[in-house]
Amino acid sequence: MSLFKKVRDTVNLLKSVDLDQLAKINQKIDLAEAMKTLGKLDDRQLTGLMKMLKTKKKKGQHDLPPIDGDFYNLDLKLTDEQREIQLKVRNFMEDEIRPLVNEYWKKDQFPFEVIKKFRKLNIVGVPYEGYGCPNMPFLMEGIIAQEIARVDVSISTFFGVHSGLAMGSIYLCGSEEQKQEWLPQMAKMEKIGAFGLTEPNVGSGVAGGLETTCKFDGENWILNGQKKWIGNATFADVIVIWARDLDSGRVKGFLVRKENPGFSAEKIQDKMALRIVQNAIITLKDCKIPEGDRLQNANSFKDTANVLRMTRAGVAWQAVGCARGAYESALKYTKKREQFGRPIASFQLIQNHLVEMLSNLTAMQTLCFRLSEMQDQDMLTDEHASLAKVYCSMRMRDVVSRAREVLGGNGILLEYDVARFVADAEAIYSYEGTKEINSLIVGRAITGYSAFVS
Ligand SMILES: Cc1cc2nc3c(=O)[nH]c(=O)nc-3n(C[C@H](O)[C@H](O)[C@H](O)COP(=O)(O)OP(=O)(O)OC[C@H]3O[C@@H](n4cnc5c(N)ncnc54)[C@H](O)[C@@H]3O)c2cc1C
Repeated sequence: MSLFKKVRDTVNLLKSVDLDQLAKINQKIDLAEAMKTLGKLDDRQLTGLMKMLKTKKKKGQHDLPPIDGDFYNLDLKLTDEQREIQLKVRNFMEDEIRPLVNEYWKKDQFPFEVIKKFRKLNIVGVPYEGYGCPNMPFLMEGIIAQEIARVDVSISTFFGVHSGLAMGSIYLCGSEEQKQEWLPQMAKMEKIGAFGLTEPNVGSGVAGGLETTCKFDGENWILNGQKKWIGNATFADVIVIWARDLDSGRVKGFLVRKENPGFSAEKIQDKMALRIVQNAIITLKDCKIPEGDRLQNANSFKDTANVLRMTRAGVAWQAVGCARGAYESALKYTKKREQFGRPIASFQLIQNHLVEMLSNLTAMQTLCFRLSEMQDQDMLTDEHASLAKVYCSMRMRDVVSRAREVLGGNGILLEYDVARFVADAEAIYSYEGTKEINSLIVGRAITGYSAFVS
């Protein structure tokens, strides 16, 4: 056998290992380095390696293709360094997060121990320049959101609220002094952030309808009102609060510190989605904020909208991750589960579900990839981000429900993961703008008519 053929066969064998196994192998050895080394092995060494890999297979078992939700190999469009970060996050999620999420989801609690572990990854504040942030392209923010949500949507929401919404508000709307005070600590996750925009009476209509007020009394700003659904708010060190100025009528942003006596946060109980995320109702009662903690460059709702535009692309990528996690879990299950004496993956109707899932997933991934490229080229508009959020959250719902279907009864059991994806998809579907609101944003852009209120 020629050396070339042996290298090719070895590579093919490695390709047949599923993603879980690859992630485990990659933990022990640097796969990229290993592939380089393979080319240098001599004939005898290669034959030995192939024998070793082959003996892993059970008798009678035929080669099954890998479980990989990246069907169009978008990973090949990443640089070596970006790919390394993607795999680092994937391994972290598999090893540190997957084993504990179902338990915490069930208990409706947040696993605080993961914050310390997250710090080591150095992926917080992905696209920001300076302040100890990685300053990577927006594409990597999307890839990371996908990798985290692929294992757990709650953890990706915790991460997105902190790194995207909270840090993004400070990065885009804060003064230099405010950025210096908060961003380096938040990048290291020594301080955790939250973002308070939605209210009990105002969700979709926040642009013109905020009821939370602020008023300058000559010395301090006084905030009054309530916020609802605010992720991380039960434990965050700093909560970005958006409020309407009673004098100018304009929306302003504030950095509210958790120890402020006018601030209180009560956990929302009994959610059927994202149970790990600690969402809260915040009450602001004559909450005094010094001028130094007013976001100095947030002067109207347009500034709030700039933050949302930046993060909405990340939410579309979360939907991709959720769909990918559900698809890969379902595919794995169908290969193992046997009925009528055969793996259910061999049935035509099951394959139809799998292919529908994969086509949705692939369309979502390629759309988001282009979305991030546009964001990196500074071409992203509100309607671009909204279209991706609408499309991906609809397709995600379809994917998770098919995943649940091919698992039969096990599709509603937490231990098979798919049930968690089904439930969590419902939160992605609603937050950062519902389907209707994001459709209205796109509709206005393509027709020239605003149909928000008839
Ligand atoms: C799990 C979770 C986490 C969240 N985290 C945060 C957070 O950290 N910070 C934060 O500020 N917010 C957060 N939110 C709030 C989220 O952004 C809002 O739920 C969302 O914007 C929708 O608002 P709403 O729930 O009040 O629904 P509503 O605005 O009451 O909408 C109800 C329905 O009416 C439809 N509708 C409204 N207006 C129109 C219209 N003009 N035309 C047609 N249909 C319309 C909507 O599309 C929806 O179907 C979170 C929400 C959830 C569920």
